[in-house]
Amino acid sequence: MQKRSSFSCEEHIDIAMDDFILDNEIFPVLDKLYGINTKCQYCTRKATYILEIPNIDKDF
Ligand SMILES: [Zn+2]
Repeated sequence: MQKRSSFSCEEHIDIAMDDFILDNEIFPVLDKLYGINTKCQYCTRKATYILEIPNIDKDF
């Protein structure tokens, strides 16, 4: 099952990357979040990064 995107704070970005790669079997596109109030998936802090699936054809 593929996730659309993940959110992580600075501290949990390594775990977020690992989980993302495990879940999606693809390396994420990493972006900084600006002005978006989203929580980290691994703690209660504000997320700093968004991890997204790269824009490629996914017609499996
Ligand atoms: Zn965190």
